[in-house]
Amino acid sequence: MTAEILDGKAFAARIRGQVADHVGRLKSAHGLTPGLAVVLVGSDPASEVYVRSKGKMTREVGMNSFEHRLPETTDEKTLLGLLDDLNEDPAVHGILVQLPLPGHMNESNIINRVDPAKDVDGFHILNVGLLATGQKAMVPCTPLGCLMMLRDRLGDLSGLDAVVVGRSNIVGKPMAQLLLRDSCTVTIAHSRTREIEAKCRAADILVAAVGRAELITGDWIKPGATVIDVGINRIPAPERGEGKTRLVGDVHFPSAAAVAGAITPVPGGVGPMTIACLLANTLTACCRANGLKEPEGLTA
Ligand code: NDP
Repeated sequence: MTAEILDGKAFAARIRGQVADHVGRLKSAHGLTPGLAVVLVGSDPASEVYVRSKGKMTREVGMNSFEHRLPETTDEKTLLGLLDDLNEDPAVHGILVQLPLPGHMNESNIINRVDPAKDVDGFHILNVGLLATGQKAMVPCTPLGCLMMLRDRLGDLSGLDAVVVGRSNIVGKPMAQLLLRDSCTVTIAHSRTREIEAKCRAADILVAAVGRAELITGDWIKPGATVIDVGINRIPAPERGEGKTRLVGDVHFPSAAAVAGAITPVPGGVGPMTIACLLANTLTACCRANGLKEPEGLTA
């Protein structure tokens, strides 16, 4: 079997197109422009790249982008003060604090200071609880992107066996909650899981969010399964020249693609969906804040 490659780049472009159309309608019908504020503390090079790219795509879909860059030495009180101001600002519908934060800050304090209605990352404890209890929440962007891809490929997920490898608060746990909400039978595997290969081999849906390069090989995969590879790992690529590297997922793509029914590549799979879902969440937050109907197909 040769798996269908799930093209996240094309899918994400489609989502951004839908967001842009909806933003256009909000502007013309209600004079509303959704706004996303991104807060970056320090100058981590990877975070800089993400923040620039988020700002660019926010503007491209017609939303307002507000960037707040604070020095590495900023104290927690100052950051909390900025978040209070953004929470009060009616032009700001979504707030994202770029992680990781400098070591002297308490990440939970910061995340939980964001107004839950503007928490487009879905990390606030209230949103975590709403998701866990099946209520209307802001849903973390990466798992939301995975869910959209799964629904697009499989339609109704009800009754399917799903295994999520990884139990982080950012990906693994919310992914499992979303699959459960769509009536999958969900197993969460992690570093202590026994007979993990056999558990994965029983899955109709396998989501890998581990951070271990090419851990999951073809013999872990049920023939015909849908495999979503969230992992982003940089490994040496001497074949490209000395000191060169390349990106791979948590799934060993060549062997997995020979068994799976469908699979996301790395890069070009889940990665592009994350920012698209951030924009979708900002649009959703704007609609909710103004008592308007939520965009169809762009929420969980
Ligand atoms: P974390 O490091 O927070 O979590 C990793 C999880 O994998 C943990 O639950 C850990 O188990 C589990 N794990 C580690 N080793 C093994 C193993 N050998 N077998 C089974 N489980 C194992 O990572 P994140 O969830 O934040 O990210 C996971 C991956 O996804 C990373 O590569 C990251 O870069 C990528 N990512 C991609 C995004 C995107 O936009 N595409 C967004 C976010 C993340 P335990 O809890 O027992 O330690």
